[in-house]
Amino acid sequence: MSKKVPYKTYLDESELPKQWYNIQADLKGLKPYLNPQTQELVGPADLTPIFPMGLIAQEVSQERYIDIPEEVQEKYKSFRATPLCRAYELEKFLGTPAKIYYKYEGATPSGSHKLNTAIPQAYYNKVEGITRLSTETGAGQWGSALSIAAQMFGLECKVYMVRVSYDQKPYRKHLMETFGATIVASPSMDTNTGRAILAQDPDSLGSLGMAISEAVEDAATHDDTNYCLGSVLNHVILHQTIIGQEAIKQFEKIDDYPDIVIGCCGGGSNYSGIAFPFVKERLDGKKDTRFIAVEPCACPTLTKGKFTYDFGDTGKFTPLTMMYTLGHDFMPPGIHAGGLRYHGDSMLLSKLVNDGIIEARAVHQTETFEAAVQFARAEGILPAPESAHAIRAAMDVALECKETGEEKTILFNLSGHGHFDLSAYEAYNAGKLTDVDYTDDMLKEGFACIPEIKK
Ligand SMILES: *Cc1c(COP(=O)(O)O)cnc(C)c1O
Repeated sequence: MSKKVPYKTYLDESELPKQWYNIQADLKGLKPYLNPQTQELVGPADLTPIFPMGLIAQEVSQERYIDIPEEVQEKYKSFRATPLCRAYELEKFLGTPAKIYYKYEGATPSGSHKLNTAIPQAYYNKVEGITRLSTETGAGQWGSALSIAAQMFGLECKVYMVRVSYDQKPYRKHLMETFGATIVASPSMDTNTGRAILAQDPDSLGSLGMAISEAVEDAATHDDTNYCLGSVLNHVILHQTIIGQEAIKQFEKIDDYPDIVIGCCGGGSNYSGIAFPFVKERLDGKKDTRFIAVEPCACPTLTKGKFTYDFGDTGKFTPLTMMYTLGHDFMPPGIHAGGLRYHGDSMLLSKLVNDGIIEARAVHQTETFEAAVQFARAEGILPAPESAHAIRAAMDVALECKETGEEKTILFNLSGHGHFDLSAYEAYNAGKLTDVDYTDDMLKEGFACIPEIKK
């Protein structure tokens, strides 16, 4: 009988990472943020109306390792390390010679990886005297995480929730309110941006781009308020590297190492978080790991987008960022993986995809839910629809191994549980989910809004 590796964290408190890994130190030729109006380089002064200096410094830092503040380490200890699990039953179901591991970020109080960055973001704001946070949420995972983190540090929290998710996931709203946050559906009547959108389209489903504009406007127009973003930005990705650093230590304990690291990709934070510490080992020439970022066919940023400067939001408040983008006005359909509906992506992840270090693939909604259900039945965990994209790809790679007989070691990030996504499972079980594909003509419409860079 093979030795079973149970659902286990392996690391005790003293072994938890004490620093985050900043991949900016190891990437050459990153393009800087540009001011959305002037297209000049963005300086710290451009960002201080909405972010604390502690996070602005991390956003542009070239230091390879950045200390995790003691207070943040204390909070992390209450739920980290998250378990590294081997999916024995799924392997059996697939009949694959591959070993499939997953890092379970659903085992945090908020149910996803997002708490890893919500805690330091609330902390740095608190330290600099901010009393209120504004943010957007798509699927509701980020709003939940920030509500919890704001409560930990005694801050108020206002959440602009993308309309389609607000309607699909009423329980997320109750959860956030229970943690003391104030929730409004976006587009809302609370901001100039929201009112302008509703005037044009009263039935707007909303998008992350719109909700970001509203939350940024809120922060920019209130002195006591700063804005928090749950993905995309360099400091968010930095905080998430706790995942991959733990995974490396956990693999040392079981004397294994992944050949392939897979994750789902919305703005890129959970995938970058698990992958970047492994990417470093590949950049250092120590390993030859393969990396696969997985996105929905309904929002194919990395696989069909353009690698160019674009705004991070519909309202064009955010800096211009060099990234893969479908155009800041791109309106993804109301698919059930609300967290993967963003038009852009992290500049760091985009660069690595453009450099050919990380591969990207897109999967359809129905095959993704099929994988989610098979995983749930095999492993007893209901995955978030976002995470299920990673499961789909991991299963596909494991099935390729079955063809070739290769005993590869696969690691994927199970970024969250799906306990608040049951209406999506209801729709799948009732055969009501449909798949979306984009023709080049449809994508052209989104590309049309991408700004020209004048130098
Ligand atoms: C938000 C979210 C995602 C997508 O965001 P990334 O920044 O790409 O990680 C994926 N999975 C879950 C569970 C999420 O909450």
